[in-house]
Amino acid sequence: MELFIQLAYLLSAGLFLFGLKRLSSPATARGGNVMSSAGMLIAVAVTLLHRDIVDFRTILIAVAVGSLIGALAARFVKMTAMPQMVGIFNGFGGGASAIVAAAEFFAIAAAADGAGKGDAGTHVSILLGTLIGGVTLTGSFVAFGKLQGIVTGRPVTYPYQKTISLLIFLVIIALAVVTVAVQPASWIFIIFLCLSLLIGVLLVIPIGGADMPVVISLLNSYSGLAASAAGFVVENMILIIAGALVGASGLILTAIMCKAMNRSLANVVFGAFGTGDAAPGAAAGAGDSTVREVSSEEAAMILGFAKSAIIVPGYGMAVAQAQHQVREMADLLENRGVSVKYAIHPVAGRMPGHMNVLLAEANVPYDHLADMDDINPEFERADAVFVLGANDVVNPAARNDTSSPIYGMPILDVDKAGHVIVVKRSMNPGFAGIENPLFFLKNTSMLFGDAQKVTASLVTEIKEL
Ligand code: NDP
Repeated sequence: MELFIQLAYLLSAGLFLFGLKRLSSPATARGGNVMSSAGMLIAVAVTLLHRDIVDFRTILIAVAVGSLIGALAARFVKMTAMPQMVGIFNGFGGGASAIVAAAEFFAIAAAADGAGKGDAGTHVSILLGTLIGGVTLTGSFVAFGKLQGIVTGRPVTYPYQKTISLLIFLVIIALAVVTVAVQPASWIFIIFLCLSLLIGVLLVIPIGGADMPVVISLLNSYSGLAASAAGFVVENMILIIAGALVGASGLILTAIMCKAMNRSLANVVFGAFGTGDAAPGAAAGAGDSTVREVSSEEAAMILGFAKSAIIVPGYGMAVAQAQHQVREMADLLENRGVSVKYAIHPVAGRMPGHMNVLLAEANVPYDHLADMDDINPEFERADAVFVLGANDVVNPAARNDTSSPIYGMPILDVDKAGHVIVVKRSMNPGFAGIENPLFFLKNTSMLFGDAQKVTASLVTEIKEL
């Protein structure tokens, strides 16, 4: 039996690894997802059967309830609300690990009749699982609240904030040392648990709402580490492996996002950057220069008679859910002989892969999507660029204005194209809250309006060309 279980775990671990590998390309991602899910199903089933933990009817009911919630969420949660949903899932993952660790602590305490006597290694694992799991649980719920608008998106700061957090953290360490080295008492553990939950809240509330996707990715990594710690507590190999994979991939994703924004992780976590909503007119000097406006009819002519056009989607396309109209417009242009490509910036939108997912939903062929490094040399040869609800990721100030807060952030060089059409509703700034000199360039035309409505009217106009 033991051999069968270990083999099943080995199979699960293999499925996780190959599944992760396949997630790295949109063409194989769907299969990778199924593979990893199958690995998880095998791991859960084998663990529950082997340990004879609860009655199989209870397991079936839990599977049915969980599947129903998952299916409903997948069906009804909007693409723009995906970061919040991932946030909640992370929170539950961290909470589950903390509960496993806490349950083990009390089991040891009860078995040893009062104050527990478990070995130091087990207690270290229990404390790590509780701390990281607790932080992940409450931190993720604050992140969810900020993105959902339940908690203010502005960074919440108060006097001596970092000192207070540091002091609480030191108390947590002291309690952990007492538990491992001196006396594992239940009351100490309960205080430790409460402080872990509190520090999760205190770490996330000072971070601006717009930085939450990075925080959620970091918390995702924490939830993996908490699961790994819980794996050590219950001596379950597959939980350790799965947790380590989640922890590592979450960290890699966090690093990719920080690099694409040219910000350090410390700046995201402690920098109080991004208030959630950039205030109208926050752009310094907005209105100093004039902008050129075009009608849908003129824009349709520019795009329709171009030899090559590049579409640059951004957050505004996601909010307006304009991806289907974009696809329709691109099809019409291609039928007219225009070569069409999509330029994807790594942090366009509000979550990693945001644009790829939306465009895939509208059945845009993968080979039409180009990464920033591949497409940048092509802008100077492109006749027309269609910027749809993107702002910071096409801001040339990042390239040539050393005083700009986003100076150094890699951007799409759209300003080098023959003609740039920018679709947005107003002159308001984007996420970073700064002016975009692109809008004032001679080769730029602004087409004001909602991304979906404007693109739909372009479709009508192009048909009439
Ligand atoms: P931005 O937030 O810079 O700009 C989006 C633009 O879309 C706004 O200027 C807004 O202008 C416009 N817009 C909003 N709604 C609509 C609508 N319905 N129709 C048309 N336009 C609309 O987005 P980008 O995608 O260019 O950049 C993403 C930003 O988010 C970057 O600064 C990035 O660092 C940050 N970020 C991204 C993360 C990620 O993982 N992707 C994570 C964390 C941060 P207006 O109001 O005038 O319409």
